[in-house]
Amino acid sequence: MMRFHKAELFFFLLMFFVGISGAFSLAAYSAATGGFVVGGVETAASFAFMAMVLSGLSVVCGCFLVYPIMSRGVRERGKLQKMTESLSVRSLTLEHAAVTDSLTGMYNRRYFDDALAEYLQAFGHIDKPIGMVILDLDHFKAVNDTHGHDVGDKVLRQVAECLQVFTRYHDVLARLGGEEFAILSPNITERQLYNLSDRIRQAVSELQIPHGNVTLKVTVSAGLAIWDGVESGEELYRRADKQLYEAKRQGRNRVCAA
Ligand code: GH3
Ligand code: MG
Ligand code: MG
Repeated sequence: MMRFHKAELFFFLLMFFVGISGAFSLAAYSAATGGFVVGGVETAASFAFMAMVLSGLSVVCGCFLVYPIMSRGVRERGKLQKMTESLSVRSLTLEHAAVTDSLTGMYNRRYFDDALAEYLQAFGHIDKPIGMVILDLDHFKAVNDTHGHDVGDKVLRQVAECLQVFTRYHDVLARLGGEEFAILSPNITERQLYNLSDRIRQAVSELQIPHGNVTLKVTVSAGLAIWDGVESGEELYRRADKQLYEAKRQGRNRVCAA
């Protein structure tokens, strides 16, 4: 059986009252003018009265049955729309949070890994160089141990800002974790990537981070590798990381390339 909504039933009822009221009006008219309904003025008057009662019922039905449902529907739709809007804002925020490092506002490792896979696939087709730099703060444990974790966090934020200044629009910059950062730089030669990394190294070493009445200084070591066109992202990362290790071994505050 066909199921009707309450609002539809009330609407049919309203239409029914309006229709019957119209029929009574027609009957009253034709009784008064001697048309197809026979009868005198009295019959016409009683038909007109019925039409009046039914009109009244239509108004009551419209005002107290149909209108409340309609207006509730409109209000609920508005509320629902607001809810969906705030939900989609929330899911955007969550999406953003899932790929962002909360301390520095940079992309996190998850985003970096995805971007790496995507870039390698895209660049595999167009035969352009793509390079990776991994940077790690030198003796950072000592900063934490001497000045506390909060100061360490402040240093990380300042270094992050410095890295941001040096990267270009297409570079993917991320904090991979702890005091380790990475840059994925498309369309760049080894020499250019080396120069970029060394400028960053220089800038970090020149940072003056005020803390109480002392000024903290930090240095960073970097390892870089240019994608060979066939290796996986993981392999590229391992090669850059090996160079980072080499930079640490050679005394830190330097850039090493294969
Ligand atoms: P190296 O020059 O060999 O890199 O020495 P290091 O001390 O920087 O390296 P190590 O890996 O021994 O220590 C890294 C330290 O980074 C340990 C930890 O206290 C600190 N660290 C990691 N994540 C955070 C963080 O989110 N905030 C702060 N303040 N410190 C962190
Ligand atoms: Mg370190
Ligand atoms: Mg480290």
